[in-house]
Amino acid sequence: MSLADFPRYSLTFGPSPIHPVKRLSAHLGGAQIWMKREDVSSGLAYGGNKVRKLEYIVPDALASGADTLVSIGGVQSNHTRQVAAVAAHLGMKAVLVQEAWVDWPDSVNDRVGNIMLSRIMGAEVRLDPSGFDIGIRDSWQQALADVEARGGKPYGIPAGASEHRLGGLGFANWAYEVEQQERELGVFFDTIIVCTVTGSTHAGMIAGFAGQDRPRRVIGIDASATLEKTRDQVARIARHTAELIDLGRDVRDDEITVLEGWAGDYYGIPVQSTLDAIRLTGSLEGVILDPVYEGKSMAGLIDLVSTGTIPKDSNVLYAHLGGQQAMNAYSALFRT
Ligand SMILES: *Cc1c(COP(=O)(O)O)cnc(C)c1O
Repeated sequence: MSLADFPRYSLTFGPSPIHPVKRLSAHLGGAQIWMKREDVSSGLAYGGNKVRKLEYIVPDALASGADTLVSIGGVQSNHTRQVAAVAAHLGMKAVLVQEAWVDWPDSVNDRVGNIMLSRIMGAEVRLDPSGFDIGIRDSWQQALADVEARGGKPYGIPAGASEHRLGGLGFANWAYEVEQQERELGVFFDTIIVCTVTGSTHAGMIAGFAGQDRPRRVIGIDASATLEKTRDQVARIARHTAELIDLGRDVRDDEITVLEGWAGDYYGIPVQSTLDAIRLTGSLEGVILDPVYEGKSMAGLIDLVSTGTIPKDSNVLYAHLGGQQAMNAYSALFRT
């Protein structure tokens, strides 16, 4: 089967927009930087990268006859908010396990932002004290069992929609979308920068780009601070997705690049380079990045471009994956 043979349920406005960020590029004095904007590509509760993954998962959920989407993430998970939006859009219920992934003292952490939006959209939100883990969790199994016990038909979507058979397809398709947009724009992006945590965004891209003629570097910037787990998960999902879409060869180790150095010590806790990247991008471009994901991947981009590690003659495409909805839970960081 090729990628085009998998059913896709449209949840976006179409291809996500690509635009240059000229002032940031000039400021860094290196490669030309562009952004591809998953944060503005859907009308469902502000969208984000999980909507794109869900486009390939929804047909399977509908075919199963399910009436409830069950998923899991941190208290300020963007993913669970996007699951809640998609459930509402489809006329389904949502049960969301929100774990204490981030030890963050903000007093409104469990009331504003993503979790508030999920409640507004009618999801059943369950706070759970477990800490950060990108794997399969008992609380999630329990939520599935509870839906069944009360006569519903659950459809499980793991954290970040990553440990799902079809989880990599959305961003494999992103790779083909980029190729199409390059033709229209008359530019070739030799380097892609993407934040990676549960892995299927980055992994899908790897599988999609691996099927194209011109080689490029797809650089994942770790924001999990559990590097080995994320790297293994990216490699596994990339290989599995490549097989699903009939790449016709194995994904090589040198196609899987997850760089560390910008995650800090903990998932969800920004460090100085994160805050600097957020303020720089905000003040030069009017583009907002969050402190959990995109601020960290942008910190990586800033270092790689300004040190010339990514050569000056490169065209870099930064995948903006959304996430601004968590901002208000981090208000203490931006009081001046
Ligand atoms: C989930 C998420 C990521 C990470 O994507 P994965 O597929 O989990 O690696 C990055 N940025 C934002 C805003 C996200 O919500």
